[in-house]
Amino acid sequence: MEKLRILIVEDEAAIREGLIDVFIYHGYDVDYAEDGALGLEKALTSTFDLVLLDVMLPTMNGFDICNAIRQQDREQAIIMLTAKSSDEDIIKGLSLGADDYVAKPFSVAQLVLRVQSVLRRTQTVKEQNQQITLNSQRVVDCLNMSGQFDGEDIHFTRREIDILNYLHAHSQRPVSRQELLNKVWGYAEDVELETRTVDIHIAKLRRKIEVNSSDPQFLATIRGAGYRLIADDNV
Ligand code: CA
Repeated sequence: MEKLRILIVEDEAAIREGLIDVFIYHGYDVDYAEDGALGLEKALTSTFDLVLLDVMLPTMNGFDICNAIRQQDREQAIIMLTAKSSDEDIIKGLSLGADDYVAKPFSVAQLVLRVQSVLRRTQTVKEQNQQITLNSQRVVDCLNMSGQFDGEDIHFTRREIDILNYLHAHSQRPVSRQELLNKVWGYAEDVELETRTVDIHIAKLRRKIEVNSSDPQFLATIRGAGYRLIADDNV
């Protein structure tokens, strides 16, 4: 099996070297950058399964790097190393699309666990991208963005497949419209949110996947909480 690749962007040599050793020891393929601009360049020009991103960096800070990566690649797994456990830093990092954060000073064991957990989540999503089994009669082919329901060929848009995939990956709970806008559309948390856009897409999706779109059995509305996908192959 190919090793998972991690990019470590950290300017403090002692921490950086320590992290490199630890992740190599845990079986990862590791690359690193000592400053922000180089880190961003590596993140955008090479492929990594996860980017470990310090906040305080020379030439470009971790928030700006996170933001710039997100504009290019919604799926890139990112963990921020926040300088302090200040809520402000954490909220800022997560709202820019980081998957998780670890506050300095951190325990290495804790950080490794967080990295493994984020990678497990993102790798699972990747693996499940092939198809979604709503029930034995209704299987969505995510690669070809199509399905055959009741003998009829159905075609999905990229956005519809992304919505289904996201709901499927988080099927243990309802997903709010705002979360869909942030994660599927890639909108920043503080933009004026157009939740109606989500409703329109959900209505279109229901007409495609449901037997009766006014009585949805797969794409359920959870009142006051959002949407939830109820599929036979839910994880
Ligand atoms: Ca630093």
